[in-house]
Amino acid sequence: MPSTDKFRRFELGSGADVSVSFEFFPPKSEKMEASLWRAVERLQPLSPNFVSVTYGAGGSTRERTHRTVERILRETDLSPAAHLTCVGSSREEVDAIVRDYQALGVKHIVALRGDPMEGIGAIYKPQPDGYAYSCDLVEGIRRIGDFEVSVSAYPERHPESPDWATEIDNLKRKVDAGATRAITQYFFDNDLFETFMEKVRAAGIDIPIVPGILPIVNFETTMVFSAKCGTSIPDWLVRRFAGLDQDVETRKLVASAVACEQVLDLVDRGVSDFHFYTMNRAELTYAICHTLGLRPAPEEKQAA
Ligand code: FAD
Repeated sequence: MPSTDKFRRFELGSGADVSVSFEFFPPKSEKMEASLWRAVERLQPLSPNFVSVTYGAGGSTRERTHRTVERILRETDLSPAAHLTCVGSSREEVDAIVRDYQALGVKHIVALRGDPMEGIGAIYKPQPDGYAYSCDLVEGIRRIGDFEVSVSAYPERHPESPDWATEIDNLKRKVDAGATRAITQYFFDNDLFETFMEKVRAAGIDIPIVPGILPIVNFETTMVFSAKCGTSIPDWLVRRFAGLDQDVETRKLVASAVACEQVLDLVDRGVSDFHFYTMNRAELTYAICHTLGLRPAPEEKQAA
């Protein structure tokens, strides 16, 4: 009889009920391209539900996002999801990108508003001839084709939402417009996620809400970015990384432990889908997926 993991209620190594997806960003240079593809090759055998490719602020990576999605389709068996934002483009331009993806065979788009061109924190002004908010973009995409459409969700509220009613109403508008899944901003406090989920379900929103997990590659950078995007950093997390600024190896081990604890606790709370912000690196994400019980698919299955 298989033994249950010492510390957990579920049997590690089965991984059968866990589903994962991985997020990558389009590379800027040949060197970065090589490291992205190393990560894709390493993570592919874990049979993710999909892999998504981000879209740079203001459409700055339009071609690179497209090229990366195209290469994933051409060279792997993975299902790519292309991120797309409203900022800096007219509706016609955005629609043309969606039609291009449709012609390529892309079936999944992650529809976002995007941050203002001036950066996070600047006041957002919709472009007069563009899609104003992500709910408008979702509607536009659904008009063009039968895409799977994922949207964002914020367990700690989007920084521009003045209150929870506004936040949840916005998510509901995206679902009413045709979103089929929400992926959350990363967070480190699972209690906040659970409270958020109670609000979401109480509002009658029943699409899957997939927690976004950020394995911490660089704690300093994570602190800076979190302050901008509204993710709180618990004191215990600061203490875990304290004194490790110059100690890359220990930092990696701590980061792996932190993320493994987080996902295992979420499993204990009933979560079975996870989206990993990989930062184009496989190492931490692979270790966390392994801990979740995921194992490489047998080669004949990968080749099929
Ligand atoms: P929305 O859901 O449209 O909402 C943004 C804010 O606008 C909310 O506060 C909402 O309450 C408010 N709002 C909505 N409708 C109205 C209205 N009618 N009037 C006034 N206010 C309104 N950014 C990128 O540039 N590229 C990416 O690839 C990318 N990927 C991401 C993936 C995920 C999973 C997440 C969580 C975020 C991602 N982002 C990306 C960041 C995202 O673009 C920013 O967080 C952005 O500030 C908001 O985009 P959104 O789609 O969440 O916005």
